[in-house]
Amino acid sequence: MSQLELKQNKQGTTLNLTISGSIDEDADFAHVDLNEVELMIVNLNGLKGLNSCGIREWIRWTQKFPDTLKVAFLNCPKIAIEQMNMVEGFLPKNGIVKSFYIPYYCEECDSVTNYLQEVKQGVEVDAPEEIQCENCKQTAEIDVIEAKYFKFLK
Ligand SMILES: [Zn+2]
Repeated sequence: MSQLELKQNKQGTTLNLTISGSIDEDADFAHVDLNEVELMIVNLNGLKGLNSCGIREWIRWTQKFPDTLKVAFLNCPKIAIEQMNMVEGFLPKNGIVKSFYIPYYCEECDSVTNYLQEVKQGVEVDAPEEIQCENCKQTAEIDVIEAKYFKFLK
């Protein structure tokens, strides 16, 4: 497990938070400065791990969010999307996902290519069934059950 790293950059009432490494029992979000923040943009591109203790810490933190706080998540990896789908409250009340990764599997070279899917307000996500494998350039097929994986969008 790699160490959790939180990078904060506040601009006016917007806080940009970059989360990288693993969220586990040592995760400490207390020093994220939400004072006067109206919008928090959370970039999960570098999120590498998430265990059950980490999920508990995460939910403890998000439950303290003020009602006025809006949260937008960018570049959510599969491990975060799975929790949003399974664990009530993992995606905070005023939270939306702006972009997330969909894994595509290539049989040719047995590798996974992650495709970044943008989410536009009011537009249904229409992920491609196939994309080009980034490794061997053959066809990679979507490796999730869309009805399940996209549940968090509802
Ligand atoms: Zn391939």
